[in-house]
Amino acid sequence: MPASSSVVQELLAKLVAFDTTSAKSNLKLIEFVSTYLGGYGIAATLIPAPDGAKVNLFASIGPAGKGGIGLSGHSDCVPVEGQTWSSDPFALQLRDGQLYGRGTCDMKGFLACVLASVPLFTSRPLKEPVHIILSYDEEAGCTGVRPLIARLGHDLPRPRVIIVGEPTNMAVIDAHKRIDAYRTTVTGREAHSSLPRLGVNAISFAAELIEELDRIGAKLSTSETNDRFDPPASTVQVGTIEGGTAPNIVPKTCKFQWQVRSLPDADPKVAPERIKVFAEEKLRPRMRVVARTASIETLHQGSVPAFLAKPGSEAVALALALTHANATRAVSYATEAGLFEEAGCPTVICGPGDIEQAHAADEFVTTAQLDACTAFLAKLAELLS
Ligand SMILES: [Zn+2]
Repeated sequence: MPASSSVVQELLAKLVAFDTTSAKSNLKLIEFVSTYLGGYGIAATLIPAPDGAKVNLFASIGPAGKGGIGLSGHSDCVPVEGQTWSSDPFALQLRDGQLYGRGTCDMKGFLACVLASVPLFTSRPLKEPVHIILSYDEEAGCTGVRPLIARLGHDLPRPRVIIVGEPTNMAVIDAHKRIDAYRTTVTGREAHSSLPRLGVNAISFAAELIEELDRIGAKLSTSETNDRFDPPASTVQVGTIEGGTAPNIVPKTCKFQWQVRSLPDADPKVAPERIKVFAEEKLRPRMRVVARTASIETLHQGSVPAFLAKPGSEAVALALALTHANATRAVSYATEAGLFEEAGCPTVICGPGDIEQAHAADEFVTTAQLDACTAFLAKLAELLS
């Protein structure tokens, strides 16, 4: 029997009540999960961040030894600041079969289903272990899980298969795009705004760079396409911009952050290389006529690898069997799946909820999706015993 939906909802209410926005600590949530698992005689290994403010959790149920199935999720969620919610985002609310709260969809709903299924796993004579993997800072570039992954196959068991329970409406996802994040800083020269020829306007030059990024994006949209993805090509977009101090000063500095989301087979360096050439050849000479110290610097802030399951992946085969599906899909958002796959663990993404509700105001997951997930986990327990 799958875990009851009332137990899942009780657990989800507790998980949602912990404000685990990525910038904050997740220690209280992890403590709750450790204590819960301890109640079933399951010991958890905690892998803390260097500053100790956040922690990953790894716990195994069933026979010790190699292999097993990893059920993986992240404990953090995105901020609610600036969003208009109809109810308290940290108090779970059920309205018309939809459970509202920050993280319900992405991805505490999955975690609640996994925790609610623990008694099912412990009551069965499992032939191989189930591992619960819970990370931090997924929403901050998938950085938290990396030290945990480094220990798989060393002092932590390496799962035979990893299921990442990100919201897919329980569809089986075998590929996603790559993310590269950049910050560009334009340094010009300040001047009185009545004498703009004496200054180098950093905002104006940044605007030219951004226009060029849009042109690069337009070229990428037709140069290499894969219809499995929506949109079907690599994309470029600027996310933040800041610059200037006052309307009557030619601005000296402008910074903007941008991202490239690349198809798994595409070269992720095309956009940064083209923007570098544009900056060096088209903009810098014009800037330096006025100020020799003027510069354009682009820093690579980090990346999340693409995910592409190998042909015949046992993770994909398992998820297809558990969901009775016969086809896989690809998505454009990134997850920790690429990191697991890179580390040699066959991985698949399959979890409750719709990505359209993730990160949004009034985020929700339907009770039907949670029921589908607990049925999936019950079937897994059956299959492993
Ligand atoms: Zn997520």
